[in-house]
Amino acid sequence: MRGADSTGGAMREGRPLCAVFVSGTGTDVGKTVFTAALLRALRLAGVAAQAVKPVQTGVPAGEEYDALQADAPVYTAAVADLPPVPGLAPAAVLRCFSLPASPHLAAAYDGKRLKAAELARDILKHWDGLNGAAELLLLEGAGGLCVPLNKREDMLDLMDALDLPVLLVSGNGLGALNHTLLSLAALRDKGLRLAALALIPTQPAAAGAPDEDEARILADNPRMLRARLAQAGCDAPVLELPRLARLDGAAWQRLAAELSPLAEELRRSVECPRGEAAADLVSRDHGAVWHPYASAVELPPLCAARRSHDNRIVLADGRELIDGMSSWWAAAHGYNHPRLLAALRSQAGRMPHVMFGGLTHAPAVELAERLLAHMPRGLERVFFADSGSVAVEVALKMALQYQQGRGETRRTRFLTPRGGYHGDTLGAMSVCDPVTGMHSLFAGLLPRQIFMERPSCRFDAPFDPASLDDARRALEQHGKEIAAVILEPVVQGAGGMWFYHPDYLRGLAELCRGAGTLLIFDEIATGFGRTGKFFAAEWAGVTPDILCCGKALTGGMLTLAATACTGDVAREICREGRVFMHGPTFMANALACAVAGAALDILDENRWQGQVAGLETAMRQGLEPCRQLPGVADVRVLGGIGVVEMEQAVNTAALQTCFVEQGVWIRPFNRLIYLMPPYPSPATDVARLCAAVEEALRRGAHRADA
Ligand SMILES: *Cc1c(COP(=O)(O)O)cnc(C)c1O
Repeated sequence: MRGADSTGGAMREGRPLCAVFVSGTGTDVGKTVFTAALLRALRLAGVAAQAVKPVQTGVPAGEEYDALQADAPVYTAAVADLPPVPGLAPAAVLRCFSLPASPHLAAAYDGKRLKAAELARDILKHWDGLNGAAELLLLEGAGGLCVPLNKREDMLDLMDALDLPVLLVSGNGLGALNHTLLSLAALRDKGLRLAALALIPTQPAAAGAPDEDEARILADNPRMLRARLAQAGCDAPVLELPRLARLDGAAWQRLAAELSPLAEELRRSVECPRGEAAADLVSRDHGAVWHPYASAVELPPLCAARRSHDNRIVLADGRELIDGMSSWWAAAHGYNHPRLLAALRSQAGRMPHVMFGGLTHAPAVELAERLLAHMPRGLERVFFADSGSVAVEVALKMALQYQQGRGETRRTRFLTPRGGYHGDTLGAMSVCDPVTGMHSLFAGLLPRQIFMERPSCRFDAPFDPASLDDARRALEQHGKEIAAVILEPVVQGAGGMWFYHPDYLRGLAELCRGAGTLLIFDEIATGFGRTGKFFAAEWAGVTPDILCCGKALTGGMLTLAATACTGDVAREICREGRVFMHGPTFMANALACAVAGAALDILDENRWQGQVAGLETAMRQGLEPCRQLPGVADVRVLGGIGVVEMEQAVNTAALQTCFVEQGVWIRPFNRLIYLMPPYPSPATDVARLCAAVEEALRRGAHRADA
């Protein structure tokens, strides 16, 4: 995990880096000559540019500016006759290794290890060290895009860490199409922008009559590549440069002239720094977009996010935040997980989606089988829905149709504890806490459900059987009208982040059985390891009649949810030829099912138990000091969930700002400041999240007048 040693950290002082990456489709395609010629073209266009080699291999340290195989002397030669830019050498080399090999191997040979984040930091340090003398850096990679830096990372990861546009140089000749198209696919998959593609013949133009076959290939390659780029909606120019046998002053001048339109283009891009673009995005958002639980008149504070990786969210202005939210329980394995991305891409290439009426596919079937294998024994059938709220609607409808199947047509209501949260569609909302769910706003529309006290016995206290009294009373009083009891097992999430005793669920299951009502577990938040068990139902050893899951199901990459029921429920619903009346358009979306399969693969590696236990330990320790602070009502931690409950509703906007200043992403609501970091978060990052909460409270950022 790149986590702890990433590029930005919190606020980066100084000017934002202005640079482009030059890479090739392989070694010896003319990258260095291209970089040098572009350096000259930029300088002629009045841009204070410098060519930088972050990693130079095949050159012993100390010889980087004069060795025959080194790139820096080529850069220097290209601008030798131009007036120097004050305070700015034409070339710089950041790391040098003597073995002429891939950087990972060359570094290992010298007893070193390369890391994308460290190289990115070197580049930023170099940029800052130039003290404004440079307007643009041309960063020339080593070899091609997938050249390894270490066991896990490639050159692409360095480009990704800095999120720079890429100039791709390709050798024009036989085989160029294959290498170039593969490189373009790799760039696209990484979400990097192609600034231009340059083709340079692999052979110098032969003296005498040109070979006709060769000429055909050379002319066709750029045509084909332009067509393919246009097809993919990419408007980057495809440049054709000559390969010159002798690199003298006239040659540099000729190449620079060919590159002058590109240099002009780059000069224009220098003039719009990123901070402004980020501010612009937020103001456009304020003109057109609505955010969750937000006003469209009094506009909420927003941060523009640009990229994500591991447990980090990178903002548009370059700041990088440690994520404490897993994007609302979902991104349990961190962001951009390579397994999830690979599953998404390969399924996208095969079949992104087909209707699920009358058709089926392997990603859905396999996912259903695997989910049932992980769920409490007795659940036998999976219905896929497109969001958690819809999965809850499906569960409620299943319960109603079940009771109808049994001839219990009076059972049309649901019993649920206060403090619950089940989603924002009407049916789901009707079983949310009536106060925090703002039922008064929708009084005419919402079905009136029956509410009981929230399970009062804390998770970490001895079980008090009296905590079941209200459930017993409600079932006695309303039993004949109740189709099902619905609740979140062990952890009530968005309704209050409340952890209660698993024995409550055992007692409740028994009461339900006695009263002829079904039991629905909403595991949309608790599922997939977050509480320390794969499903929270395992804490109680109870099998519900219906179980909903979602959120972390796809590891936070796509929206997908599932509602599973027992064979008995399925049979009653389908009595006498009846069918279950639900069918979302995007039911069992193949992309989402494939990604969910990969997320289960990650869980099946069984690292999550250790990771969640680590989060629990780190948060117990890190949040403990908050307990003593004024205004704090309770501090509690279970599995990967840490909660600081305040006595009063907090100032969400002021806290958000205070957290972002500290380089963390935490979004509190109501009286709750809570953490649920991605499982693989390094302990040092979890400590920083906890420290940020403590610091925010000490500063009083939670107060209404903050
Ligand atoms: C988030 C959540 C839902 C709703 O899921 P969406 O995907 O947001 O519709 C339902 N139940 C619980 C317990 C949740 O945490």
